[in-house]
Amino acid sequence: MSTCTAPHTAETGLLEHYVKKILAAPVYDLAVRTPLQAAPALSALLGNQVLLKREDLQPTFSFKIRGAYNKLVQLTPEQKARGVITASAGNHAQGVALAARELGIKARIVMPSTTPDLKVQGVCSRGAEAVLHGQNFPSALAHALQLVETSGCTFVPPFDDPDVIAGQGTVAMEILRQQQGPLDAIFVPVGGGGLIAGIAAYVKYLRPQVRIVGVESQGSSCLLAAMRAGERVVLPSVDGFADGTAVAQVGAYGFEICRDWVDEVITVSNDELCSAIKLIYDDTRSITEPSGALAVAGVRKYVAHHGVQGQTLVAVNSGANINFDSLRYVAERVVAQSAL
Ligand SMILES: *Cc1c(COP(=O)(O)O)cnc(C)c1O
Repeated sequence: MSTCTAPHTAETGLLEHYVKKILAAPVYDLAVRTPLQAAPALSALLGNQVLLKREDLQPTFSFKIRGAYNKLVQLTPEQKARGVITASAGNHAQGVALAARELGIKARIVMPSTTPDLKVQGVCSRGAEAVLHGQNFPSALAHALQLVETSGCTFVPPFDDPDVIAGQGTVAMEILRQQQGPLDAIFVPVGGGGLIAGIAAYVKYLRPQVRIVGVESQGSSCLLAAMRAGERVVLPSVDGFADGTAVAQVGAYGFEICRDWVDEVITVSNDELCSAIKLIYDDTRSITEPSGALAVAGVRKYVAHHGVQGQTLVAVNSGANINFDSLRYVAERVVAQSAL
């Protein structure tokens, strides 16, 4: 297992800045307060009380609408009138499309031409314009940035933005209100680091004893790489199984928080993600996407590594946007592992 522990010597001024933004974020115009739910079977298996923060139950089936809405709502009337652009084939695209429709803002989402129809439809059905361009994500992103130049529209980043981070941080505000009793650690899936930065800022300001543990896929562990190097690094390649978190470089705003306030980063394999999807299913009868199961996979590894018992551990179930076809692969990997 790969871990990394940061010392707590930093000033809390930056945290306070974000806590204020989080408290003022009007995300409930669109997002819902999701349950923090007991996972009895998983808790019994691990000898710790495990609670699931059910962000897979949001409209669009992931927490991304929190950040997207908080970003769009803060735009000036002129910026709102000119519209927004983003590049994404995933949960951020759906979040921006829905938030834009809610606010009456015109949204254009650039996606690689290889994007499955289902996801293109997901954007169009929410009233946004899908622009298909290029064979991969970097080429779609380049096109989006070029459109920003020529159109005067505002670019909506998926994670590297203070308003997006503050929107995602509202997840932590709910967790601390929902769990006022014992709380030892919160496990957070990491892609570009927006979600964990918002959660860490809020929790470390108010309850600094609570450990913040990032969980990354072994094939895209850009936060761990940055923590080890002491600076943001670009991963030479990225595995796409956990597509919601397949990011090559952690965001600059997020890393500014994470470098001082994230206690530990755990990485998990794709097989461990498949097992976690089943464990979540056993307790909830809900299916999460691979990135959505990162935190539960991380809890399991953390308990095995540190040998903790009787603790209260929260895992953020971040999303449920899995293609139905992919379930076959997930189920097969679970069977193959249990045969070992
Ligand atoms: C975007 C996303 C994440 C990671 O969020 P970041 O802010 O990029 O770290 C985790 N899980 C799901 C399902 C996501 O869509």
